[in-house]
Amino acid sequence: MAKHTCAICGAELNLITEQKLADGNFICRKVCSKKCLKIFDKVEATLESVNSHIEQVEYGTKVWNQIFVPLTKTKVKEEKMKRFGKNGELYVSPSTGLVALTENRYKIFIFGKSTIACVYRLADLYGYDYESEVVKNSEGKEETRHYCVLLFNNTPGLYQVRMEIRSGEFESMEKYFNTLFGIQKTLGNIKNTWKQQINAAKAVADAVKAVKEGTVDEAVAENTIGALDAAQYGDRTEWIAKADAALAAVQK
Ligand SMILES: [Zn+2]
Repeated sequence: MAKHTCAICGAELNLITEQKLADGNFICRKVCSKKCLKIFDKVEATLESVNSHIEQVEYGTKVWNQIFVPLTKTKVKEEKMKRFGKNGELYVSPSTGLVALTENRYKIFIFGKSTIACVYRLADLYGYDYESEVVKNSEGKEETRHYCVLLFNNTPGLYQVRMEIRSGEFESMEKYFNTLFGIQKTLGNIKNTWKQQINAAKAVADAVKAVKEGTVDEAVAENTIGALDAAQYGDRTEWIAKADAALAAVQK
């Protein structure tokens, strides 16, 4: 059998040290696989998506160290972060418009801790859904595991995150994100959503008119998509501005 080499670092591989990707490429388990978050599914990945993800983790870890680590110690109420996940691995920072998905690495047992992270703009969070799974635990008993599936828009690398959460945690996550984005699902608070839907309806009407008159152009089309997005996902303009301002200050 032909020996494989790591498509990233060129190391020679054998059956134990190789990780096969979905596109038939191989990468090494010793160095290159470890640059990925554990939650990143390498079996389903291609060389291109692995490279994007590694870049995402390298950049995300820098952002984590420069922006999030100082925020974990803040005494300012407005800068406090919210944590979600079974081990609190997801940090949401409304003051910077950023989200960090973290993973702790230890050199020996619990010593020599370092944290790697993927950082996303809150504005790009387009989905947060609940999933559950019944599994047999180590004692052979069935237990339910709970997950939140986060979907990030415009994101190369890891853009779908299936994160284990605590029982009952999803409801508070959903409520938290809906509130951040001004998506209000209860009848008592329908005003905002209603206003956004009116704007969306107006934009669609304008677009239809433009098509009829043969004057449809990119600006009209973009406006329509924007208004429809706002109705469904909330207005993200402010969140985009916040995140981009925070990220602009990150040192390479
Ligand atoms: Zn390698």
